Amino acid sequence: MSGDFDTVVIGAGIAGLGVAAILSREGGERVLVLDRFPLPGGRLMSFADTPEPGWKVDVGLHMTELGEHSSIHALNARAGVEVSWGPFSETVEFFHEGRFVNIAELVPLSGEERRAFGALLGRIASLTDEEIASWDDRPLSDWLAENVAERALRDLFTCMGMIMTTIPDAADMAAGEVLWIGRENLRKKGQLLTASYPIGGMEALTSGLVKVVEEGGGEVRTGAPVQEVVFEGNRVAAVRVAEAGASPYPAEFRMTPARSIPAGKLVCALPIYQLPEIIDFAEGRSPLPGWWRKRITDIMHEVTCLVGFLLGLSRPVTDKLCFFSALSTPHAGLPFQAFPASNFDPSVAPPGKQLLHTDVVCEYPEASDPFRRRRILEELRRDLEEMFPGIWDKVEWELPYYVAGCDGLARKPGLVGEFKPKLRAPGVSNLFFAGDTYVGRGLAMNGAALSAMLCADIILDKG
Ligand SMILES: Cc1cc2nc3c(=O)[nH]c(=O)nc-3n(C[C@H](O)[C@H](O)[C@H](O)COP(=O)(O)OP(=O)(O)OC[C@H]3O[C@@H](n4cnc5c(N)ncnc54)[C@H](O)[C@@H]3O)c2cc1C
Repeated sequence: MSGDFDTVVIGAGIAGLGVAAILSREGGERVLVLDRFPLPGGRLMSFADTPEPGWKVDVGLHMTELGEHSSIHALNARAGVEVSWGPFSETVEFFHEGRFVNIAELVPLSGEERRAFGALLGRIASLTDEEIASWDDRPLSDWLAENVAERALRDLFTCMGMIMTTIPDAADMAAGEVLWIGRENLRKKGQLLTASYPIGGMEALTSGLVKVVEEGGGEVRTGAPVQEVVFEGNRVAAVRVAEAGASPYPAEFRMTPARSIPAGKLVCALPIYQLPEIIDFAEGRSPLPGWWRKRITDIMHEVTCLVGFLLGLSRPVTDKLCFFSALSTPHAGLPFQAFPASNFDPSVAPPGKQLLHTDVVCEYPEASDPFRRRRILEELRRDLEEMFPGIWDKVEWELPYYVAGCDGLARKPGLVGEFKPKLRAPGVSNLFFAGDTYVGRGLAMNGAALSAMLCADIILDKG
């Protein structure tokens, strides 16, 4: 025990809260969770009565693969938290040649191809973990070339893979991750893709975990940015947390004072691309080995990014329980996704109105360039008018947003499965990691939730 807490966790996203809740419930630990944001939830934050009364919005477009069968549901259940789900998406529609079509119209199959597809799904459902892992550093295009004779089935699979990975080209998708997600969906739900939405928005997935931590004598402290992890030899000794204080200097010139909080065990539950902001990576000053620091800095910008709009509509543009997609939009020329969240949980919009999540997927250099991302947003505006004619007449409010690093490491060959950074730090016995950029399988939030459970198992010596 160090200070008042057994373990300190940096990051109150799903991974940090998940590790903290399990340590609290199963290990009887008092855990301190620190987050720089004013609210817990990280990328799963929701905002009630925002931007106007009666609406509830998440950070950008969000849906949950597998709903009540998901890792994020299992994590909450393990912490003793019940989550309720809206219905599953009934279909995926792709914008193609000026209209939305379902996948059967996009890739028409003959009777023989349909039978071959059924047999293929059976083979995927029966793949072992080892067989899947052997494809983690190889592209989906290779797997398709070796396993699927029919051109139409290869096209169909590439569309499904694009939705799972948000990567348009099968040559860039990690076959292992696509097969793992497909296998889980087939085993648990009998189909390759599934999408659901928790009742109450994404906050419903994290708010119960906060309570578990607090009921266990721990604390979730928001508005608490960690400046630095302090090492003594080969152990973490403390974290330094910036203190708000009056300063006449503009932010550009200011150095914020900090105070130390001792940490007997530390979990860094923030994405790898934020680690160099709190861990000194300099040679000679870091107890973490050079190969590890090099690996982190080599891959930290291998992430997918989004530019999009959350839209509050006075009248619905669709009554479907459907996930909308496009391999490439007419104007932005990028993969597209949209999700009418209020069709799945009517409580997130006022009666008769619609909450529509929309975005296009881009690469890190595009999302991190303010000029380029503003152009993309304007192109998406024109795309939306073509996809949902008259939509802008129904818009009561719009929330444009971008994220450089939306859902973990890009699911590319060599960046999934055991190739992801490990949950235990090399050479520092009391330092651990959790989140969507570390070891853990599944679509984004599910990968983060699984990593949280695996990290807690290691700390509790169950792993
Ligand atoms: C717009 C958008 C759309 C998405 N859509 C989907 C989707 O449809 N389906 C899906 O499965 N996933 C989706 N995701 C991904 C999903 O939200 C993430 O995979 C998941 O929330 C990651 O959780 P995490 O705990 O690993 O990280 P985070 O939620 O990022 O948590 C990390 C926390 O660390 C905190 N932190 C960072 N630095 C510091 C510091 N120095 N001091 C203190 N705290 C710090 C941050 O404030 C943050 O709260 C989407 C993400 C975004 C942004």
